[in-house]
Amino acid sequence: MVHILVNEDFCKGCGLCRDACPKKIMELTADRMNKKGYHPARCKDESQCIGCCSCAMMCPDTAITVVKDEEGEA
Ligand code: SF4
Ligand code: SF4
Repeated sequence: MVHILVNEDFCKGCGLCRDACPKKIMELTADRMNKKGYHPARCKDESQCIGCCSCAMMCPDTAITVVKDEEGEA
């Protein structure tokens, strides 16, 4: 199982992670707002995640950490 951890206060809601995800499971939250006033990203279905780390690599603010249960932090 892969977990997508988003440091919400680093996120600026740019959507690059959403656009980069091959599984289309990253989204910007409509119902949350961080300290900077942006809607932070989240993974809406971790069960679909293949752990490719594209979202984390694309994030200009290094807000995303991809954690794989068996192998520790990716
Ligand atoms: S690790 Fe890959 S599949 Fe998983 S949310 Fe990020 S971009 Fe999508
Ligand atoms: S790429 Fe980073 S800053 Fe942009 S929406 Fe995704 S988590 Fe937020």
